[in-house]
Amino acid sequence: MLGAPGAGKGTQAKMIAEKYGIPHVSTGDIFRANIKNGTELGMEAKKYMDQGLLVPDELTVKILLDRVAQPDCEKGYVLDGFPRTIPQAEVLDKALTDLGDAIDYAINVDVPDENIVKRMSGRRACVTCGATYHIEHVPPKKEGICDKCGSELVLRDDDKPETVLNRLKVYHEQTQPLIEFYTAKGVLKTVDGTQDMQDVFNAIVDILGK
Ligand SMILES: [Zn+2]
Repeated sequence: MLGAPGAGKGTQAKMIAEKYGIPHVSTGDIFRANIKNGTELGMEAKKYMDQGLLVPDELTVKILLDRVAQPDCEKGYVLDGFPRTIPQAEVLDKALTDLGDAIDYAINVDVPDENIVKRMSGRRACVTCGATYHIEHVPPKKEGICDKCGSELVLRDDDKPETVLNRLKVYHEQTQPLIEFYTAKGVLKTVDGTQDMQDVFNAIVDILGK
């Protein structure tokens, strides 16, 4: 799954996983699981993380391949959150090629920056219980007040336009080149991510097949 932060690719990845009965493989989740279970690979990754260093791409791909070699991935899997850069895509591509495998589809959930900024700036979070709302899509019963606990709702720093624009800048620099990378491999499919969640999903099903 490709797409800018806030484009909704995580949601679509979960929906794909559910419909096709294949695992949703998120690198963040696999890292946490490996570290929690104290696996050799997890401990190796933890060494870097404890020092505040980025986990090398080769190690991330090793952890990923270990996950997708599990029997539940036999019929396929949805990869979410990786690769994020061209070097990562190249390491992954080589590793899969060595296994006689390849990425079948790179689905790009395309949403213009201004839509993402608008979406994110509509989010509200409760200062007390952490419940989340959206002023347009999931409004609280009373403006600015949490339905669950009655506390104040705020726009989190993470959702503020300047923060979102910074993340989008990093995305355009590092991740967007993947669109060309997968176009060159002939597997890129772009869907219009500005539609309703369900319409985006229908467009993806049209690509993947019923
Ligand atoms: Zn609350």
